[in-house]
Amino acid sequence: MIADRARFRAARKLSRATGMRIPDLAFHGAFLEVVSSGINFEYLDGPLRAQLLEFVREFLSCGCRDSPDCGCPERRFARKVLELREEGLDHREISARLLEEYGIDLYPADILSYLEESIHVLEAIREVSQIQGKEPLRAASERHLRSIVG
Ligand SMILES: [Zn+2]
Repeated sequence: MIADRARFRAARKLSRATGMRIPDLAFHGAFLEVVSSGINFEYLDGPLRAQLLEFVREFLSCGCRDSPDCGCPERRFARKVLELREEGLDHREISARLLEEYGIDLYPADILSYLEESIHVLEAIREVSQIQGKEPLRAASERHLRSIVG
């Protein structure tokens, strides 16, 4: 999963500020647990606080009873990468945007291979839906394909 490769750049700073051991993998259970419940945001400096608040808002606000272990954060992150691509950003720009907005490090090469995988999946969906005559699904996969391939 693409979320497994996302690292929170300021994890050590966050550990120092909170006195808690915080893993640098941004979608590691322990990281999500701390960020969603255990942090007093007032102790963090402005940029770090802004990134974490944005992270929580974007990836941790699903409201599932077993959040953050519900799988939504990882799915939302994977979807976010695709959305940025569909907005026209390339893999390098997506990497820069993730760092700027959420303090997340994700290598452009990892983004590129994730986008390629997504294209293969969409192509498979397009073919199967065409064979089965599911036109709305075929059209949707075609539309996503076009905006991802660019
Ligand atoms: Zn959820």
